[in-house]
Amino acid sequence: MRRILVTGGAGFIGSHLCERLVRDGHDVVCLDNYFTGAKSNVEHLLGYPNFEIMRFDVREPIKIEVDQIYNLACPASPVHYQTQPVRTVETSVMGAVNLLRLARETGAIVLQASTSEVYGDAQVQPQDETYYGHVNPIGIRACYDEGKRCAETICFDYHRQYGVRVKVVRIFNTYGPRLAPGDGRVVSNFILQALRNKPITVYGDGSQTRSLCYVDDLVGGLVAMMESPDEVTGPINLGNPGEYTVLELAEKIIAMTGSKSQIEYRELPQDDPQKRRPDITRAAEVLKWRPHIELDIGLARTIGYFRRQFQLELDVA
Ligand code: NAD
Ligand code: UDP
Repeated sequence: MRRILVTGGAGFIGSHLCERLVRDGHDVVCLDNYFTGAKSNVEHLLGYPNFEIMRFDVREPIKIEVDQIYNLACPASPVHYQTQPVRTVETSVMGAVNLLRLARETGAIVLQASTSEVYGDAQVQPQDETYYGHVNPIGIRACYDEGKRCAETICFDYHRQYGVRVKVVRIFNTYGPRLAPGDGRVVSNFILQALRNKPITVYGDGSQTRSLCYVDDLVGGLVAMMESPDEVTGPINLGNPGEYTVLELAEKIIAMTGSKSQIEYRELPQDDPQKRRPDITRAAEVLKWRPHIELDIGLARTIGYFRRQFQLELDVA
């Protein structure tokens, strides 16, 4: 049994990770400032003696005795991180520094949740970990992309300079139950629009691609990375290589929900990456990890969740 700190633990991925770690019998501290997460995401865990929750902001230094730190604290949806860009940079960079300092003092391992966004609007397809990326450093996505890139930098500097054990994973688009409604991400937007028979908002012509990983698969990858030998520092891509255009995704969700929604085209946001697909060879070789949950299965589960969550509202409508 390990003492584990999960920052951003009340968020979408964090709450699933906490669930898994509590179930595995670890002593789990979920830390969150509820900027984009919610207590309700983890309230079902509160009765477990090996789970506790702490309201805290990772921009502040923290002292706590733990063996492992999963650093997930950071707004992840473009809508959220772009409304508070300064806070996003501070959270990524100061958060990483504070947790690395803690790791240096306690000897804990830090797993840093990085992102496919470090590749920016990638000029190579698929993206493997040797690609340095194509990021606009002053655009509206930069607070997130460059914040995460700098967090990777400081992880490797703490590793080289102070011997802190670090593990960097680059997470590709992940979806599933507990995506926050209204945070603008494509899967939750399309499912909610479809269930409400409202227009499905496709940005641009919908030819841009994303590869979508179901959250349970992703959590398995995070744990495999944390439990890997110390010399495995990453970066390692975690994601599902199945690639779909945004338009294909919209059509799939309309069909799966039996919705009457029509597709409505909207302006493509600035710097929206055109193509995104992970090369997961490294994860497969080093972690023996690969995703197993097909898009149709994962979407069916996610649609089921949103149906249950919003049944009352849908009944009224
Ligand atoms: P999320 O917004 O649901 O979760 C982030 C959590 O961090 C929230 O609970 C939020 O309240 C918390 N948080 C934000 N700022 C904080 C601060 N200063 N102090 C403490 N807590 C803070 O997003 P998510 O999708 O669960 O993403 C989790 C992590 O995974 C993020 O670091 C994100 O960058 C990374 N990631 C996610 C995806 C994805 O597709 N979901 C893809 C790539 C990377
Ligand atoms: N998108 C869309 N309609 C929406 C929400 C998103 O067409 O209502 C597109 C968006 O432009 C992007 C893709 O879907 O090309 C994924 O967007 P998301 O915000 O989920 O994540 P990103 O990968 O861009 O961070």
